[in-house]
Amino acid sequence: MMNWILEAESKRDVFLDKLIEFLKIPSVLDESTATEGAPFGKSINDALQFMLNFGKSDGFTVKNLSGYAGHIEYGNGEEIVGILSHIDVVPATEGWTTPPFSPDIRSGKLYARGATDDKGPTMAAYFALKIIKELKLPVSKRIRLIMGTDEETQWRCMEHYLSHEEMPSVGFTPDAEFPIITAEKGFLDVQFAKDWSTDSVEDSQWILESFQSGKRVNMVPEYATAIISGAGDVFELKEAYQEFLMTKRLEGYAEEADDHVKLVLHGRAHHGSEPEKGLSAALELTRFLITLPLDSHGHQYVQMINECFVDSIFGEKLDMVTEDDIVGKLTVNVGVYRYERQKEQFVRVNIRYPIHADGNQLGEKLDEKLAVYGFKPLYTDNKPGHSFDNDHPLVKTLARVYEEQTGLPSRSLAVAGATYARALKNCVAYGPIFPGKVETAHQTDEYIEVDDLIRAIGIYAQAIYELAK
Ligand SMILES: [Zn+2]
Repeated sequence: MMNWILEAESKRDVFLDKLIEFLKIPSVLDESTATEGAPFGKSINDALQFMLNFGKSDGFTVKNLSGYAGHIEYGNGEEIVGILSHIDVVPATEGWTTPPFSPDIRSGKLYARGATDDKGPTMAAYFALKIIKELKLPVSKRIRLIMGTDEETQWRCMEHYLSHEEMPSVGFTPDAEFPIITAEKGFLDVQFAKDWSTDSVEDSQWILESFQSGKRVNMVPEYATAIISGAGDVFELKEAYQEFLMTKRLEGYAEEADDHVKLVLHGRAHHGSEPEKGLSAALELTRFLITLPLDSHGHQYVQMINECFVDSIFGEKLDMVTEDDIVGKLTVNVGVYRYERQKEQFVRVNIRYPIHADGNQLGEKLDEKLAVYGFKPLYTDNKPGHSFDNDHPLVKTLARVYEEQTGLPSRSLAVAGATYARALKNCVAYGPIFPGKVETAHQTDEYIEVDDLIRAIGIYAQAIYELAK
């Protein structure tokens, strides 16, 4: 019997040295330094090269796919076991205790951007492979550590990789949590826009000059602002807004300038996969705007929001209410709103749907609904959901390995978010965050406990071996 935990423990020092070096590379998307062979900029390319050089120096076969992705391979055989990770990170946020690209260990926690998402787990998976190679364990499949470089933005890395390389027959991604994520909702992301007609603006009491809310499609908007001009009574407008905020128990204010009034509303930000847990500032502000005598363009924009999205978090007004007992209800989040009079008007809609719903059909329905208000889809991204039965061989193997090494019961998790696993067929998310531990990905002072990474090396080594033997 192999003692995987001891094998992992024996690598602790060299693992940490290498990981710290790797984390110093600020591998954030930077298209201003993109070149041929480095499509996402210099730093991402440096990080990819770092891993590939490391693999090469250890005697692995390595391949660089024009800087879009790379893999480190071991073993021979018809099939491929794929371990999918990514080496790009989100930008550093403000207020770090120690600089995000100067890794620091305090009380057993390794602090750095990428420590948990996903450079720490990438290095853990690499050392797992290294253990298998050094012990010369017999495998009947090729094992590939596939490293993407654009996971945090558009997944262009895996699109390129899979158009040039074979699809692994089975695999896992160390980019989420333990025990195993076996079900993920479908993900539909559509940006709708409407052209400006050259109609002259009619005399109305109020004119909607601008409406702005939200920054990212996968967030519930925290702030919304509307700028209103026109010939109406400013005092009355401000009074009515205050009254509205009070009755609805909302936070916000109205601000008067020379030729306009600015209305601001504060909601509550939350991840867009659970819009019911946030409070969309845009939707709340719409409840007020719809009561005003606005110009026809402004009114139509507000009407579209009101009739499609207000009180429609579960798709009520889109006739999309549906759920299953694996991942739950369909949810709707509008993450970004832009209305700039005579310039632009769009919304960015994100729908998370049950496994058995058809994303393309939902997309068509949404297109039809918004066409009523003159909006057309500009950009559509549909990623179907997936789910594995607990008796799927991949799930059974990973669950058994987890239970053997941790002594804890394995449990299949269902999530509303999209993990990297869906970039491959027959792939599930497996670690590295253990149950009860804090998830700090994308946050200030991102960290992972060093002992957890060492535990992950042991689990990954056994898991890879069992899948490839
Ligand atoms: Zn990640």
